[in-house]
Amino acid sequence: MDPIVAHHSRGRRRAHRPPPMSSRAERGARVRSIAWGAALAAVLGCRSSPPPPARQEVIDIHVHLTEASAVAPLLAHMAKHHVDRAVILASPDLTSGRGGAGLSGYRAGNDIVLDAAAAHRGKLIPFVTLELGDADIPYLAELRRRGACGVKLYQGHNLFHERPLDDPSHQAMWHALTAQAVPVLLHANTVRYRGELEAVLRAFPDLQLVCAHLCGSRTDLARMESLMEAFPRLLVDTSHGSAGPATEGFASLERERARLLGLFSRWPERFLFGTDLVTSGLDPMSMELWDLQVESNMGLLKEDKFRFFRQTADQPARTIGTYQGLHLPPELLGPALGQNAARWLGACLR
Ligand SMILES: [Zn+2]
Repeated sequence: MDPIVAHHSRGRRRAHRPPPMSSRAERGARVRSIAWGAALAAVLGCRSSPPPPARQEVIDIHVHLTEASAVAPLLAHMAKHHVDRAVILASPDLTSGRGGAGLSGYRAGNDIVLDAAAAHRGKLIPFVTLELGDADIPYLAELRRRGACGVKLYQGHNLFHERPLDDPSHQAMWHALTAQAVPVLLHANTVRYRGELEAVLRAFPDLQLVCAHLCGSRTDLARMESLMEAFPRLLVDTSHGSAGPATEGFASLERERARLLGLFSRWPERFLFGTDLVTSGLDPMSMELWDLQVESNMGLLKEDKFRFFRQTADQPARTIGTYQGLHLPPELLGPALGQNAARWLGACLR
């Protein structure tokens, strides 16, 4: 199960900007969130990540920039954590915490990332989002003229999945993205939609695709491995966003640590660092969560130990705990933190 972005951001919005008519369940969720945040703030104190090795560029390829007012806090956050560049993803209203359904509001989301990137060239790399149906082909061209580097696709997430990924009405867009060598970041629920994803990859083997969240397989590395074996150009990001799936994911990867290390050694050029940060919520408690998110996602790759929420079956709530990280050696860490992303983003960085 992988209902990552939208669930998380909606939960977060409820936590920090409650609507006036909130239900009892929502109030309960809010109280739990606030309790969490207070516990988190107490535990975290003021920490920042240690700097990466000299001259190693760090690129976070998975940041949802949800509003223009988040640009300055995002840049400060990147500086604090020694992230050199971020791929900023256009986000529909649902992912941005503005309600709505499906992709509604996505064109406004595109304007936000294009404007932010124009003001911070080279630092913020804009990825727009699109309907996969035929109608958006001219719009893709317009967005590319306006500076879009790549495309983030949400349609592999069950909340955005209106048609199969390999639906005939999507073929023109897949073809355009492949022919123009556009970097694509796809959220794909590979429990539900694996067959559809495979059909797209068979039809478009040269698609420059990164499949998010270890291709939706954080709790089933065998699934990820078989996809990566079958499709040698398929890349994956290592991002863990929302607390629920991330907690499950980190716990599973800790148990499967040796296996995951083996996969990094086998394919060092195919793993890309990302955080899945969603920039909605700019209050101090949210800033603490931003810190935790980047420290944990980077810690998974870099550190021997890192901290994030933990939960066991007998616990009523998640609490901060320690996980064993991969502590990748330099020859695997450098590619994952930035070099693989630089190759994928190609001309966008020049
Ligand atoms: Zn995301």
